[in-house]
Amino acid sequence: MRTVHRVWLCTLLLAAPLQAQQDFRFGVLGLFHPHELELLPEEGQALSVSADGATATSALVLNGEPGHRQLLFRAEGNRVLAGSRSASRWTATARDGGAVSFRLAVPEKFHRIYRARLTIEARNGVLLAVTAMDQETAVASIVAAEMDEAAPLEALKAQAVATRSFLAAGPRHLDFDFCDTTHCQFRKSPPPLTSRVFSAVQATRGQVLAYRGKPLAAMYTSRCGGQTRTLRDVGMEPGEAYPYYSVRCQWCRRHPATWQSKIGASGEPPRPGNERSRIAAARQWGWSAIPGSDFTVTADNAGWRLEGHSVGHGVGMCQMGASGMANAGAGFREILSHYYPNTELITLP
Ligand SMILES: [Zn+2]
Ligand SMILES: [Zn+2]
Repeated sequence: MRTVHRVWLCTLLLAAPLQAQQDFRFGVLGLFHPHELELLPEEGQALSVSADGATATSALVLNGEPGHRQLLFRAEGNRVLAGSRSASRWTATARDGGAVSFRLAVPEKFHRIYRARLTIEARNGVLLAVTAMDQETAVASIVAAEMDEAAPLEALKAQAVATRSFLAAGPRHLDFDFCDTTHCQFRKSPPPLTSRVFSAVQATRGQVLAYRGKPLAAMYTSRCGGQTRTLRDVGMEPGEAYPYYSVRCQWCRRHPATWQSKIGASGEPPRPGNERSRIAAARQWGWSAIPGSDFTVTADNAGWRLEGHSVGHGVGMCQMGASGMANAGAGFREILSHYYPNTELITLP
């Protein structure tokens, strides 16, 4: 299972819930602050690329054939050059206007494959790429990034519900709904329709966790160490938001694991059980230096020595524990009600 580190402090700053079945808009590759982006169709796909306000007949077509293999977008102030044509906004879709598979690259640095509709705009010389997709495709993409596909099906279903709840709880950005960093957790192409992840998503279609009648931006953790934490335990005031509860995790108790790391001795050592302190330490030393919030600190002459028993912030569903419960016969509803007490499962219209 992947190690999950989430900067989740914005969870408490939620906007109004989105409508069900509305497309979600993910800002992608923003970490690179790209001035140029290269767009290529995936094999066998044809992309129709049009400028805002242009007629369909003037669309550029990318179909992988000579002269139609790729298109370079370049920011010019608040406008975008596509090849030699300039527009304030470009859209790439399948020929019928729907989602299409494509590769988007920051030249010579990074690329990722998406199945979505794409828009590209510019803000002060930096390109803003946004992929739009329906709720269930978005849920499947996130579950595929967050869980091992070999995890038991009921654990994948629990993760699908938690993820859908997170999305349904509302957007976290202004130019788009969610970003593709650990802040908003969108980091992967959708899995194949035949995958177990997709089955788990389909089996829970539309279902979300709700607290006081509203979808909950459900947090989860990789490995809780035996007891999950409340928001207050990690130094947060929940206010009106879901407070989370500290629940026992049998799997982590039966499978204790530790990590060790060493960090330099400048300043104060990170405080155990305090997520703000952990995030600050991770910014300085990297997440691998402080993978979990439950640790002890000792000083030696070279710096601080940390020994930890959990991976992640420890709040919400423990992913290892969820797999353990599923292997012991629990269904996804039981898993969710164990890790998220006092919530209800509702189906979005
Ligand atoms: Zn974000
Ligand atoms: Zn656990």
